[in-house]
Amino acid sequence: MDRTFRAILEEGATLAGIGMTGEQAGMMDALKAHLAEENEKFNLTGIKDDMGIAVKHMVDSLTLLKVDGILGCDSFIDIGTGAGFPGLVLAIMLPDVKAMLVDSVGKKVAFVRAAAERLGLKSVTALTGRAEDLAKDPEHREKYGFAVSRGVSSVSTSAEYCIPFLRKGGIFVAMKGPGVEDEMDDGKAAFFALGAKLREMRRIALPFEQGERVLVVADKLSPTP
Ligand code: SAH
Repeated sequence: MDRTFRAILEEGATLAGIGMTGEQAGMMDALKAHLAEENEKFNLTGIKDDMGIAVKHMVDSLTLLKVDGILGCDSFIDIGTGAGFPGLVLAIMLPDVKAMLVDSVGKKVAFVRAAAERLGLKSVTALTGRAEDLAKDPEHREKYGFAVSRGVSSVSTSAEYCIPFLRKGGIFVAMKGPGVEDEMDDGKAAFFALGAKLREMRRIALPFEQGERVLVVADKLSPTP
């Protein structure tokens, strides 16, 4: 018999070195069900098979938990969250951490909001807006401990979107594919201009040969000018 979605997810997470409770796995299963239902109506993600959703979306999102300092953050912002990756997965794993999920497209934010409600994720706020605009709002600027974006843009543009939201000492992660090396000259220049510094490029092999990823991690050392 084919493995269930949940079995793929749990084994994939274990292979990636990440532990999750039965309750968390159950919530991810419910998120997958919600995504499958809504994806029929709105095209939220091109990845539709169980292996793809479990590994390319969920385990990939979970790999953030391996970055030093993430577990100690009190808040995070996910810029360009789309259907909630990595934001909803992080919120499931870190229920006490304030989660701000942002996208410029209203239907995606509506999906994320409904999913968070269905899962009972009280820590999640979802906002429709552009990162460039939201970053000017004093309620959000320099207010977060961790900022992430996956699949949104180049390292330098993702940095421009995300780093203004970080407090000094905050952590930025751009979730990228293996070709990211070509973007790093511009990326490092952007980090410097924004008050941050490259910490590491963490290479990840997704389980079940689902591809290579790179987490580009930077620390915010001084306020963004
Ligand atoms: N993070 C998700 C979605 C990636 S697609 C994932 O990895 O699956 C990129 C998303 O970024 C889209 O949903 C798009 O609407 C959003 N986006 C692009 N530019 C943006 C901006 N300037 N501010 C906020 N969201 C943006």
